[in-house]
Amino acid sequence: MAAYFDDTYDVETRRGDENALRNLRERPPDVLLTELAFAALESDEVLRLMNTPGLRGVPFVVLSTRTDFASFETAHRMGAADFLTKPFRFEDLRAKIRDAVDRRRQRTAGRLKLGALLVASGLVSQQQTEAALARQKADGRRLGEVLVRDGLVSDHDLVQALSGQLHIEVADLRQVSPTPAALGLLPRDFIIRHRVLPLSIDEAGALVLAMTDPLDVVSIDEVRLRTKRKVRPVICTESGFDEAVSIFFSTRGKLREQRDDEAQQNDEAAQAQDASIIEIVDGLISDAVSMKASDIHLEPREDVLHVRCRIDGVLHELREYPAQMQPGIISRIKIMGNMDIAERRLPQDGRTSLETSGGEVVDLRLSSIPSLYGENVTIRILEVSPLPPTLGSLGLTDGSLKRFEEAIAKPEGGIIICGPTGCGKSTTLYTTLELIKSGETKIYTVEDPIERKLHGVVQTEVKPTIGLTFAKALRSLVRADPDVIMVGEVRDVETAKMAADAAVTGHLVFTTLHTNDAASSIHRLVEMGLPPYLVAAAFRCIVSQRLVRRLCRHCRKPHSIKASRWEELGLGKAPKRQMHVYLPVGCGKCFGTGYLGRIGLFEVLTLDDELRDLIAGGCAAGELRAAARARGVETTHEDGLRKVLEGVTSHLELLRVIA
Ligand SMILES: [Zn+2]
Repeated sequence: MAAYFDDTYDVETRRGDENALRNLRERPPDVLLTELAFAALESDEVLRLMNTPGLRGVPFVVLSTRTDFASFETAHRMGAADFLTKPFRFEDLRAKIRDAVDRRRQRTAGRLKLGALLVASGLVSQQQTEAALARQKADGRRLGEVLVRDGLVSDHDLVQALSGQLHIEVADLRQVSPTPAALGLLPRDFIIRHRVLPLSIDEAGALVLAMTDPLDVVSIDEVRLRTKRKVRPVICTESGFDEAVSIFFSTRGKLREQRDDEAQQNDEAAQAQDASIIEIVDGLISDAVSMKASDIHLEPREDVLHVRCRIDGVLHELREYPAQMQPGIISRIKIMGNMDIAERRLPQDGRTSLETSGGEVVDLRLSSIPSLYGENVTIRILEVSPLPPTLGSLGLTDGSLKRFEEAIAKPEGGIIICGPTGCGKSTTLYTTLELIKSGETKIYTVEDPIERKLHGVVQTEVKPTIGLTFAKALRSLVRADPDVIMVGEVRDVETAKMAADAAVTGHLVFTTLHTNDAASSIHRLVEMGLPPYLVAAAFRCIVSQRLVRRLCRHCRKPHSIKASRWEELGLGKAPKRQMHVYLPVGCGKCFGTGYLGRIGLFEVLTLDDELRDLIAGGCAAGELRAAARARGVETTHEDGLRKVLEGVTSHLELLRVIA
């Protein structure tokens, strides 16, 4: 590494230990390249050090072997200028270093300009400024901080002088409080690191941003990118900023307590109707919908309201709000869902629909659960994206696709889709129903809950509280002249028996089971109490499914794995000496996750006469499994390996889902 960059930069290499930290503190570099974790140091010790005043101005690039979003997010929140995953190309690293150096030069230019402005305002002399600049360079603090600390100017005079020279307003943070809508736009760590405080949104839609250094164009740029708003900087004093941060982001402090008293006098309902709170909640949901999230989790912690969202099955950090905004936000969501905002000790459910800023109407399911620091609220965003247009786009290929198509083309028989929660069973069922529906078939469903509305299909949702169970709904609809029946889930022998009876009496019946593979589904039905001969007679096809994230094609990168490593990882027997696969990277198109969308892994077993005989004879699951393998039926794992080698998904993702 050092040798590669020797021609352009002075490179110093340090191992990640205590000496390295001391060196950093004593002689700050212009740019730091760092790992995310070292053997001898706590994972984020270096990153935390970079947030101390002396090193705050030093840009750092994180190099990591880890490709998960959490590491990326940690580095990002800690203020990394950039992030590179290993193995990387030296040219990429060189470009990132050049970029970091350029930004640092811009900041330095800003500082020189600040010095000149202060001299021009007559507040300090040229000599004083130069001396301060030299000291500032040594300890990494901002020029303004140095001048104030040295007693050359007062905080207040400095701000007034700059305001006059730059023609921008002064914000007295002891008088002006940020509006919740503005404060919610940036995460706490960002605010503290960049020393900027979002104050309000002006009539023109621009974000009014209090800054201790309004010449810091790099921070302005970052805020503009993050909030997608024009930024109108106003200037505030360093001490005012520190005090405001301690008020808005700390659990302690006297001013905070005073504000708490006021807040408690306010009616929570009124707070929830506050226009800015409404805007925050709407914005949050709109953002989650545009990122194709399936769930939003609002999690009260000791000092913040933490918000995460699930995208393609995996949780990602989304926002953080100061704790005092929590009651308003939670109440607002409960009002939207028609829930009782006064009830905070018992879990509640609600539902609503919302038109996002993008004009999309989404259905939402809300649920609240009391937790240590307040109510934990989950918002499920019901599927609005169009269904996959074909069975092939679900991920079914070759033999599996052919077997499944044959099974659904027949007018009768039972078809089971099995797999754990969140494996895409519903999407497969809905896509199949959408494809087989026609003017000549009558399709009924019984579901818990209805996850997606299908045009031209009669959908019923079970309501156990009023006695409408799967069994009861099924009993009435078999008398209502159906052709196709979809039973959301078989949980008891009564429902299983009715579904099987319908399948042997001329209906096509779809259902799901929570089992791991095709053979264990048969076993589960028998275990439930369904006679083996009925299972053998009724069911025609069993599909076992898993869901993996698709690699983002815009940023995935090739990678090779040796056979020994492949087997060590638990991927099974290596097909070759060296496997060519792809790794996730992360780019703008995939929100930095490296993945875009999902695809199913399938095992499709159709039951021929020989298999039916085996089942009717009460064979063990292992025997059935062996018979399936003998017929060339691929397991979900095998389907997954094929998709890894094709570059559709990564081996890391396969291990996450299969293991
Ligand atoms: Zn990407």
